[in-house]
Amino acid sequence: MSKVIAISNQKGGVGKTTTAINLSSGLSYMGKKVLLIDFDAQGNASQGLLAITKRGQPSIYNVLLEDMDPEQVIVHKQEPAIDILPANITLAGADLELDKIGNGKEQILKKRLASIKDQYDYIIIDCPPSLGILNTNALTAADSVLIPVQCEYYALEGVTQLLLTIRLVQQLYNPDLRIEGILMTMFDIRTKLSVEVSQDVRQNFGKQVYQTSIPRNIKLSEAPSRGMSIFEYDVTSAGAKAYGELTKELVKRNERG
Ligand code: ADP
Ligand code: MG
Repeated sequence: MSKVIAISNQKGGVGKTTTAINLSSGLSYMGKKVLLIDFDAQGNASQGLLAITKRGQPSIYNVLLEDMDPEQVIVHKQEPAIDILPANITLAGADLELDKIGNGKEQILKKRLASIKDQYDYIIIDCPPSLGILNTNALTAADSVLIPVQCEYYALEGVTQLLLTIRLVQQLYNPDLRIEGILMTMFDIRTKLSVEVSQDVRQNFGKQVYQTSIPRNIKLSEAPSRGMSIFEYDVTSAGAKAYGELTKELVKRNERG
């Protein structure tokens, strides 16, 4: 059975793309068949895994708005094996064009994925940093949402707003949408703030918060410039250890049902 997980938080710079890349890679190393959908016009996930190969290359934009067959757009990356639906700057215009469609504009991504969904164990969607129509498409196509939360002030405010959006999507388009989990990112055990924010989020959201926190680790920020996940870039790093643990925790939760 395939599971579609949207990695979402309307704040930029909280670790969505880093989590999308490294969770996809971790799942692949566990033998899972993975599709990573880059759903951000910045194309960071695509670039970070070298899925942008040439100018004018078809992207998720063509799938979404021109109904191009996803099979024609998917880049098959090896070691670890990940199928990638890349994005580029063309996606920046997609929200205006989606708005023009009117009825059913929230369900486009879900429809486009229907024909390929069953080929995968996990489909990971790297969402844009906004709560616009692209994000709504991702949440409508998804079975669950993974929310990365950066250990900083105002972290909870952002989550509260995102949870309201999730509830709205549940009411309007996707009643079965679940919270996959809340992930504390850029955790720094040496700072009081990190520890306090983490405790605060855990107090508010209990078991929904992953036991694994992702530490602030320079290797995690260096790996994308080499086109690698953290597991190829430095498997001994604290970042690799943490994303390995997160992957196991996520799979365990899912396989327990
Ligand atoms: P988002 O996709 O939410 O905008 P990113 O994953 O792109 O966030 O992360 C924002 C920046 O922080 C990037 O430069 C990334 O390399 C860096 N970064 C993300 N997670 C970590 C971490 N745990 N430790 C150090 N740097 C990180
Ligand atoms: Mg990003």
